[in-house]
Amino acid sequence: MEPAGLTLKLLLVGDSAVGKSSLLRRFTDGAFEPRLKPTVGVDFKVKKMVLEGRAVQLAVWDTAGQERFRTLTPSYYRGAQGVVLVYDVTRKDTFTGLQGWLNELEMYNSNTVKMLVGNKTDKPDREVERKEGLQFARKHSLLFIETSAKTQEGVQHAFEELVIKILQTP
Ligand code: GDP
Repeated sequence: MEPAGLTLKLLLVGDSAVGKSSLLRRFTDGAFEPRLKPTVGVDFKVKKMVLEGRAVQLAVWDTAGQERFRTLTPSYYRGAQGVVLVYDVTRKDTFTGLQGWLNELEMYNSNTVKMLVGNKTDKPDREVERKEGLQFARKHSLLFIETSAKTQEGVQHAFEELVIKILQTP
């Protein structure tokens, strides 16, 4: 028997403006706003799901802007089981910045399952090809998916696959 009401802490991590808040909004509310207000302070949203027959409550944490200064605190990382590591497929610098985020994750919480997300696939001016994302993910043992918070492509999958992998991890 699985305990009822399992709660998992998931984190959104990645450079500023890659779409972390938009992905969270899309996932939890099914909505997209072209110009989200910059959030202040760390925030999280709760979403309940049933996956593989198990009721799961997700607390998904969003960084709220501190990532601009690389000042996410250890408490942000503490206790997390899963990480959604986001880059913007139309901004190469957000892809090359991924290694820094992986280093930080390793330092603060090396015990997470990670989903690499290439966001903004709806935009025409792509700078990072899908296969580059896939290669990086394979190299670092990350799950991988491309998404658009705008059209919702891949968003549900990104979170669901991450949670399923967490549930399967002993
Ligand atoms: P964060 O700083 O990583 O939380 O990024 P935001 O969620 O605030 O998004 C930054 C900007 O990119 C906002 O203007 C969003 O509307 C926009 N944005 C986010 N995701 C997408 C997407 O999938 N497609 C497009 N076209 N724009 C997006």
